[in-house]
Amino acid sequence: MPIEEALRRRLIRAAADSIIAHAAELTALDQAIGDGDHGLNMARGCTAVLDDLDRIAALPLPGALHAIGMTLVMKVGGASGPLFGTLFMQLGRSLPETPDRAAAAAALAEAIAAVKARGRSDVGSKTMLDALVPVQEALGDPGPDWRTRLPTVADAAAAATAPMPARRGRAAYLGARSIGHVDPGARTVALIVRALCEA
Ligand code: ADP
Ligand code: MG
Repeated sequence: MPIEEALRRRLIRAAADSIIAHAAELTALDQAIGDGDHGLNMARGCTAVLDDLDRIAALPLPGALHAIGMTLVMKVGGASGPLFGTLFMQLGRSLPETPDRAAAAAALAEAIAAVKARGRSDVGSKTMLDALVPVQEALGDPGPDWRTRLPTVADAAAAATAPMPARRGRAAYLGARSIGHVDPGARTVALIVRALCEA
């Protein structure tokens, strides 16, 4: 399916609006196991993307994703800025202009590998990766209903970070005391996935 400018605009706006609308929830999650800035950080980055939406949405999909990643690196800060920035920049390098589901799954796998390398992290450490990896696996499964399946998978994966002890990022300082709280970065991934699928 060609992803035309109007659709690019709609997808970017949906994801950014959702993060901005949920900033207080994300901040509350980060207050429990971090320093309470995740919602603010991500909302600042998303606002910067929306401020630049005319330019970004006019770019072909790979360029648009790369521009989003650069903006997030520059504006989000914290641990999550470089990590979400890496995710989108690598998606921009890996996705063709007109991706099908299989190409999107392959590109997301490459982007996840880049995030793992950048964060020296992997699944099971209570991070954004614990939502990204199940979503990538679901996207790789050629069922007919992946657009409706993905948000459910992402929500469940984010929720499943609660019983994990954190091993990466600020929450790792809490060790076992991080158990019982959902990881803010994983929740952000679930919000983005739902917004994109619904748009
Ligand atoms: P900071 O921790 O610097 O305050 P944020 O609060 O914006 O940054 O982001 C925290 C989120 O970043 C965590 O919830 C987690 O999902 C993600 N994160 C932190 N460190 C890593 C890492 N090494 N690998 C993957 N994700 C990480
Ligand atoms: Mg934080």
